[in-house]
Amino acid sequence: MTNPPANDLTRGLGRVVYTEAEIRQRVADLGAQISSDYAGLNPLVVGVMRGVMFFMSDLLRTLQIPARVDFMAISRYHAGKGTKGPVRLIKDLEEPVEDQHVLFVEDVIDTGLTLSYLLRNLRARHPASLEVCTLFDKPQHRLANIPVKYKGFDLPDRFVVGYGLDYKEAYRHLPFVAELTPESLGLK
Ligand code: 5GP
Ligand code: MG
Repeated sequence: MTNPPANDLTRGLGRVVYTEAEIRQRVADLGAQISSDYAGLNPLVVGVMRGVMFFMSDLLRTLQIPARVDFMAISRYHAGKGTKGPVRLIKDLEEPVEDQHVLFVEDVIDTGLTLSYLLRNLRARHPASLEVCTLFDKPQHRLANIPVKYKGFDLPDRFVVGYGLDYKEAYRHLPFVAELTPESLGLK
């Protein structure tokens, strides 16, 4: 197999929204705040595969306190083309949640419907506390009321990729976050 040309990696990308250095700095700030708020609580840090993988691992490495890590995975029933259907849990946590201080980590909150379902699911297991930390927030389309305690950045009302976020499974591993051109989104 031959390697693709180097420029194939960024083909279709538009404006860079947040650089690698900006993300690193903001993640360190969040880690410091969480370390201080959760001192002595041994939080259970929970993420949803796969978009959160880079944020989760970078955030965890900035924590100055003991913490435990677990993951969930979900899939959506698709109601139709381009429509987000209801959420289905396809991998549950391995750790018990009851009486634990749970910090739920998300890549991006858009409508909030996914998160609202997952938070309801976790609350039913009676954690000692349950808070949300999201790297990116798109507050414009919020349909569910989500209490966000820790937030990295607001995002413009645009589809972005990189740092865990994909478009048809491409671009996830880029260390920065960028918009896609309208052409690559099929809008032009
Ligand atoms: P919500 O249920 O809040 O509308 O959906 C949030 C999920 O939609 C995120 O976890 C992510 O998977 C996806 N999402 C929302 N905005 C974007 C975006 O700009 N880019 C990418 N790649 N995914 C997004
Ligand atoms: Mg997600």
